[in-house]
Amino acid sequence: MSHLDDSLRYFDRAARTMDLTANIERLLVTPARRLQVEVAIVMDDGHVEVFEGFRVQHNDARGPFKGGLRYHPHVDLDEAVSLASLMTWKTAVVGVPFGGAKGGIKVDPRTLSAGELERLTRKFVDKIHLVIGPDVDIPAPDVNTNSQTMAWIMDQFSRYHGFQPGVVTGKPVALHGSLGRDAATGRGVALCTKWALEDMGRSVDGATVAMQGFGNVGSWAARILAGWGAKLVAVGDHAAYLEDDSGFNAEALTAHVATSPERSIKGFAGTPTTVEALFAKNVDVLIPAALGGVLTADNADTVRAKLVVEGANGPTTPDAHDKLVSQGVVVVPDILANAGGVTVSYFEWVQNTQRYYWDEEEVNTRLERVMRKAYDEVRRVARHRDLDLRTAAFVIAIREVGKATVLRGI
Ligand code: NAD
Repeated sequence: MSHLDDSLRYFDRAARTMDLTANIERLLVTPARRLQVEVAIVMDDGHVEVFEGFRVQHNDARGPFKGGLRYHPHVDLDEAVSLASLMTWKTAVVGVPFGGAKGGIKVDPRTLSAGELERLTRKFVDKIHLVIGPDVDIPAPDVNTNSQTMAWIMDQFSRYHGFQPGVVTGKPVALHGSLGRDAATGRGVALCTKWALEDMGRSVDGATVAMQGFGNVGSWAARILAGWGAKLVAVGDHAAYLEDDSGFNAEALTAHVATSPERSIKGFAGTPTTVEALFAKNVDVLIPAALGGVLTADNADTVRAKLVVEGANGPTTPDAHDKLVSQGVVVVPDILANAGGVTVSYFEWVQNTQRYYWDEEEVNTRLERVMRKAYDEVRRVARHRDLDLRTAAFVIAIREVGKATVLRGI
C-alpha cells in the first residue's frame, strides 16, 4: 500500500462521517497541479547529469500552497501527492492561512558536493520559479534539505522577481528566518504529548518515552520533554538503537549526534537494542519521529505505550492505526502533532511580509496558543462525535477546506 493510498484512506474515513457532496469530495482529493521537471547540471568532473524534480500543489482554497522540498532517491510524484494533501489538512487543522504542496528532487544528496548541490537547487528554481512565490506557493525544508537550501532558493528566485524573502520559509535567522523555527516542530510534538498525557490523567513529569528518530524533530521534542521531567528510555535512528532505563541525557545526546560523523546516536552510552524492541518497550509514550509507514499491521499489537504521538509524517498505516485504537492506544496524528513547524513557518512568512521580526519568546508563546487551540478543537470534535483523534482532525480539516472551496466557487 502506497503513501497515497494511506492518506486517501484516512480522508475517506473522515469524509464518510460527514455530509460531503460528491463534487466537493472530488475537488478535495484532486491535486491542482503536478509538475515534473528535468534538472540538468554540470557535475564537478565535467559530465552532465539530469535529475527529476517535482512540485505538487494540492489545494490553495485557504491560501497560498505551502510545503516542503525533499531531496531523496525515493522522491516521486505519488509520494509528493500524498504529502501535499497532508499539508492541506495540516494547515487547516492549525488554522494557518495556507494550502498544501510538496516536492523535491530524486537524488541522494550525500553523493553530491556542496557546489553540485547548490547548482542543482538553483537550476530547480529556474524550472519552477513561475509557479512559486510568496503569494503563490512557499516551499520549506524537508528531508535532506535545510536552511542553506532555502537561502539558495530565495536568492535564485529573487534574481527573477526582485527581493522576495517570503518565497520560502525555514531560512537562516541571519537571512530573514524566524527565531524558534528550528525547534518548532519538536516543541509542538512535546506540547501535544504533555496535553494528551494530562487528558489521560497522567503528568509529563516522570513519564517514560521511546523515540524513533533523533534529528530535528526528535531531538527538540526530547529536550523539551526532558525539561518538563519526562524520561527518554529508548531511542533509535538510521545507525543504532539504544535503551537506558535510567533515562538518556537529551542535551548530551544531541551534542553527540551533532559531532558524530554519521550524525547518529551510535556510540553514545546505552544498551544496544532493536527497532522491534523499541516499539514494544513498556513506556508511557511512543514517538515515531523518523520515517513514514513504520507502525504497521505486523507490529502494532506489540506496542505497549498507551500514547503514540506522530512526530514523523505518516508513520502509522491505516491498519496499524485501527489496531492501536482498538487496543485503547491514544494516537495524536501527524497533521496535529507535527504542525508546529508549519505554524512557525507561517510566522516567518508574516515577519517577512511585515519586515518586522519578533523575539523568540513571542514566537513560542504564539506557537503554543495556536497548537492549544487546534488540540482542543480536535479533542472536542473527537469527544462530541465519538471519533479517534485522527479522524476528528481530518473532519476539521475537510470542513475548513470544504468551506473555503465552496465560498470561492469552482
Ligand atoms: P532529520 O533528517 O533531521 O532527522 C531524521 C531522523 O530519522 C534522524 O535521526 C535519522 O537518523 C532517522 N532515520 C532516518 N532513516 C532512518 C531509519 N531507516 N530508521 C530509523 N531512523 C531513521 O529529519 P526531521 O526534520 O527530524 O524529520 C523527521 C520526520 O518528521 C520526517 O518524517 C519529516 O517529514 C517529519 N516532519 C519534520 C518537520 C520539520 O519541521 N523538520 C515538520 C513536520 C514533519
